[in-house]
Amino acid sequence: MTEIKDTADQRLQSSSKMVLLAAPRGYCAGVDRAVIAVEKALDHYGAPVYVRKQIVHNKHVVSSLEKRGAIFINEVDEAPEGSVLVFSAHGVSPAVVAAAEARGLNTIDATCPLVTKVHREVQRFAAEDYDILLVGHEGHEEIEGTAGEAPHAVQIIDKDESIERSTVRDPKKLIWLSQTTLSVDETMETVVKLRKKYPDLQNPPSDDICYATQNRQVAIKKVGAGSDLVLVVGSANSSNTVRLVEVALEAGAKSSYRIDYASEILDEWFDGVQTVGVSSGASVPEELVDEVLVDLARRGYGDVRTVQTAEEDVQFSLPAELRKELKAAGTDLNNKVKR
Ligand code: SF4
Repeated sequence: MTEIKDTADQRLQSSSKMVLLAAPRGYCAGVDRAVIAVEKALDHYGAPVYVRKQIVHNKHVVSSLEKRGAIFINEVDEAPEGSVLVFSAHGVSPAVVAAAEARGLNTIDATCPLVTKVHREVQRFAAEDYDILLVGHEGHEEIEGTAGEAPHAVQIIDKDESIERSTVRDPKKLIWLSQTTLSVDETMETVVKLRKKYPDLQNPPSDDICYATQNRQVAIKKVGAGSDLVLVVGSANSSNTVRLVEVALEAGAKSSYRIDYASEILDEWFDGVQTVGVSSGASVPEELVDEVLVDLARRGYGDVRTVQTAEEDVQFSLPAELRKELKAAGTDLNNKVKR
């Protein structure tokens, strides 16, 4: 596999079919930690281990864990009293934590630390009596959990209508925060619109859109600019995956499709296509990308060039309650498990 740092005019430099493979892509540190937490919980407690909502938004990951004994539920009252329940990487509101406590569940909080960071910002600014405009997708689990930290202080800003509808008590005590997996460019456009209405709107103390989302968008911009077709591996309910398809198209790709599996690739997508870009969302195991590359090679796109725009070495330790249990049992605390 060739690595290239600059993709400008790649399409013009080569007359043969090729693949531009975005890097970084796939698993982020928060997803890795959440999936390993369920795997370690299954090893330690035995099946079943209950998980509230999908641990991460990926079909393949969820069905693999189901085969090992994880049971995915929508609400805590579906878990038998006293059972082990894992909260997903997207986070939960304090009301959900309280409901699990009241039911006597043994909980493991696999919320990504970068989502927890946004929860803390909501707690802090609500305590200082700010109004908080939370930019994100209404109904997404992360937004439900984050807004649930201070429902009285938070308004969700999803579409333009929600900007028009918003009302604040004191425009000088007003801050915007966001979901971690949004499009960076679109979010900034939303903030510009918000600032037209609220000129004193304050920025978050640090970026809420996480490093993994940002890095994958930067990489796919380069890939999209040099590709006729871009394939993004990931599930339909994965916010960061869906954003990658949009960013690829905005960057210049003639077409872009999201697929869960290589088997979903259609012949008609390849008419007149010389360069195929490939990336994957932050909850996608690399084996699914490998299967796409095998399919593409069969179609004559065997020349794979990696477009590397950043290096990532972020790693989060396992949830504290699981670490404590494993340590007491003398079990390996290493974050890495064989898959
Ligand atoms: Fe955490 Fe970002 Fe991964 Fe979400 S996409 S789990 S916020 S690192």
